[in-house]
Amino acid sequence: MPPDVQQVPAATVARLPLYLRCLEELEQTKVETVSSSRLAELAGVNAAKLRKDLSHLGSYGTRGVGYQVAHLMRSIRFELGLDEQSPVIVIGLGNLGQALVNHAGFGDRGFPIVAVFDIDPNKIGRRVEGVDTAVEHLDNLETVVAAHEARTAIITTPVGAAQSATDRVVAAGITSVLNFAPTVVQVPEGVALRQVDLALELQILSYYQPRPETSPEHGARDENLRAAR
Ligand code: ATP
Repeated sequence: MPPDVQQVPAATVARLPLYLRCLEELEQTKVETVSSSRLAELAGVNAAKLRKDLSHLGSYGTRGVGYQVAHLMRSIRFELGLDEQSPVIVIGLGNLGQALVNHAGFGDRGFPIVAVFDIDPNKIGRRVEGVDTAVEHLDNLETVVAAHEARTAIITTPVGAAQSATDRVVAAGITSVLNFAPTVVQVPEGVALRQVDLALELQILSYYQPRPETSPEHGARDENLRAAR
């Protein structure tokens, strides 16, 4: 993105897909307009925050009417770059990789999985439901990425292979990486990275679990729980 283009704050970008999903649900029930407070309620965020988020898109809604659902969906889709299909590759066909590949929800949302890579000879050549081509050896990465013009990679290798797999996909031209391996990987500037560590998410939830003891720290934790919502 050129430096003079005003960037939408990262926290806002992270909430836009949530608003989009709520709007899609409203559209399915033939709702044409929605107030900021109703949309905020559906998304589970504060209404002032939602209005601020949408103002970054130039969407302010109409007093007494709210937002036009179809128009707001178009604005969010445009802002997120969801107008075109974006082919995705998956590296590592273990249990998690397999589950993600089988999940139909990505293709439906514009992210078809076009290829899966592994290094295990027992997995190369295997057909996987949800992907048109057989599992490829990592050695074919560059050719396949170029053929599909893939820009996004999902990493589901073991921890020890995650950084080298990331380096390799980036060298092949991938510019967005979604890392599911439970380790922090590094990417060069210009490459977008999201890390999903499921055990880490459970550890965060654990902090908010009710615990038997009552102490001043637990009071503070309850406050944080309210603030985290
Ligand atoms: P999961 O952690 O997804 O449940 P698993 O326990 O079945 O998987 P892992 O050992 O985590 O298997 O490995 C995931 C997959 O990643 C395996 O199919 C393995 O062959 C593959 N893999 C390992 N190293 C690499 C690599 N460098 N590049 C691509 N794939 C790899």
